Amino acid sequence: MSKRIGLIATGGTIAGVQAPDMQSYTAGIVPIGALLSGLRFEGAEIYPTQLANIDSCDMDADLWFALVRAVDTALADMDGIVITHGTDTLEESAFLLQLLVATRKPIVLTGANRPSNALGADGLRNLHNALCIACSERAHGVLVTMNDAIFAPTDCVKATTLGADCFAAHNGALGYVQQGAVHFLRTQSRELPHFAARSPECFARVEILLSYAHNGLGAILGALKEDGVRGVVIAGSGAGNVHFALKRALANRAHGLTIVCASRVARAFVAPAMLQAPQWIAAGYLSPFAARILLALLLGSGATHDAIARAFAVFGD
Ligand code: ASP
Repeated sequence: MSKRIGLIATGGTIAGVQAPDMQSYTAGIVPIGALLSGLRFEGAEIYPTQLANIDSCDMDADLWFALVRAVDTALADMDGIVITHGTDTLEESAFLLQLLVATRKPIVLTGANRPSNALGADGLRNLHNALCIACSERAHGVLVTMNDAIFAPTDCVKATTLGADCFAAHNGALGYVQQGAVHFLRTQSRELPHFAARSPECFARVEILLSYAHNGLGAILGALKEDGVRGVVIAGSGAGNVHFALKRALANRAHGLTIVCASRVARAFVAPAMLQAPQWIAAGYLSPFAARILLALLLGSGATHDAIARAFAVFGD
């Protein structure tokens, strides 16, 4: 019996259209039905849903949780799910889904670096690969695929805007798709924290502060607190270093904020031993964007400081 695959479309360059002069393009134009009509895939029955059609730079918590609920619904009677998504924030949505949806069924996110009508458009190939992964008996949980590679949401990042090889992963690819065959080199082994959150209210306000030379960001800390922000992720330089001006401002003005230290470097590890203040929490190998999502869900679920530290320790051993 053929598999049933839910296909949830959210937009992005995979649904983008390039202008006739090929100088610019707009993401999130082509409906999923039109994209599908250009694809031959006989391995499954595909059930498409157009959840949104946006440029994913505009992703927000309302759409995130609508996506989570659409995934919950599809999981009830589908064998796997494919999500088309802009690549700008695809890694963030993938990590959020991984923390919120507990399933062994495959949920595969994909996109494209080139618009649908560009020369050498990569979207249909990525979509085809994603469908192959969603049908594979060896694929489990949330995965990302681009340019024939399969990645874990915990450590993949958009690494280039050039060419089709859009994503890179700190710990390397999990596997590859070759001529429709799905090969895994390793599996995702970590026991990740899980959350029951199903609405934007469960996502506490957490912002990211970047550390850089001649840093003046400390000045905005007071404003952040007045704005209801409950946590801060620092995107430190190197292995979690923080400019003294920002550090001083955090010491003086950040009381009551939970502070997690990550790194602005694409392949970095921030260990607890590197922290520059005893109450800060190390992000391990999580990017500042992933760390922000985890911290927002932890604070939104009422986790204590110790519980937050334990959740981040999963990514730091
Ligand atoms: N701006 C686009 C988006 O994220 C980029 C892409 O999809 O590659 O929606």
